[in-house]
Amino acid sequence: MNSARPVFRFAPSPNGYLHQGHALSAILNFETAKRLGGRFLLRIEDIDVGRSRPEFEQAIYEDLRWLGLSWEEPVRRQSEHFDDYRAALSRLNAKGVLYRCFCSRGDIARTIGDRRDWPRDPDDAPLYPRTCRGLSKDESDARAQRDPFCLRLDMERALALVGTSLTWREFGEGDEASLVAAEPARWGDVMLARKDIPASYHIAVVTDDAIQGVTDVMRGRDLYHATSVHRVLQALLDLPQPNYRHHWLVLDADGRKLSKSTFAKSVRSLREQGASAQEVRSITQLPRLATRAD
Ligand code: GLU
Repeated sequence: MNSARPVFRFAPSPNGYLHQGHALSAILNFETAKRLGGRFLLRIEDIDVGRSRPEFEQAIYEDLRWLGLSWEEPVRRQSEHFDDYRAALSRLNAKGVLYRCFCSRGDIARTIGDRRDWPRDPDDAPLYPRTCRGLSKDESDARAQRDPFCLRLDMERALALVGTSLTWREFGEGDEASLVAAEPARWGDVMLARKDIPASYHIAVVTDDAIQGVTDVMRGRDLYHATSVHRVLQALLDLPQPNYRHHWLVLDADGRKLSKSTFAKSVRSLREQGASAQEVRSITQLPRLATRAD
């Protein structure tokens, strides 16, 4: 294997059928990898075992093949690698940057109350009020015996370790990189393991990109700000720093991002309505409607 070849990946979550936005991301990854003489991987992001379904996973393979894409085997399925995410979390724990959080959504909402000026993260969710950061080790150990908990990153401590001048190389849709200043503090104490699932999107994606030798993370602009969290985790865990290529989003008629919850057309329904793969692929030629992250 030639390590100088760039490595791209498309990483869908099998909790619905692929829609046009996924098709765009998959095709852009595949085509950019090809253009740069690189490799193309497919990763199934199924840590949310409650929402993931085998039929959606099978549909991902079918739809991508129909679109004319091929990828390296074996495909990495995150649900088979919880040990890797646990190992990453225990390395973070050894650095003193994790803490247990016992709060429910209701607890958090009550703590914040009706304060309208409460800071919000880039996804517009209120920042966690750090209630459980104040628990002593004994209190936390005792509660862990009886109550479920999630694990949060102590962002302040993390930034004290890795510094506040993290950056990433952003290519957007082009061939030239600019350096972007990460702003992880905007996310507060993000969750790295859920109460019901021993990992979160952030820890799984960073771990897998490193294990799979991904050199170029190409994904939609909706994940642009999440990259700030990923850079902190990479720095804490001494993981290599990939290039980032956040691409435009396919928007619906009202200018909203297509998602499974809106009326995004699935690749499968377009096919059933008689669209050719070439027609669906032509989505990459559409006017670039959304090029800004915020
Ligand atoms: N699994 C994520 C999604 O379907 C994508 C993760 C990524 O590309 O970093 O939105």
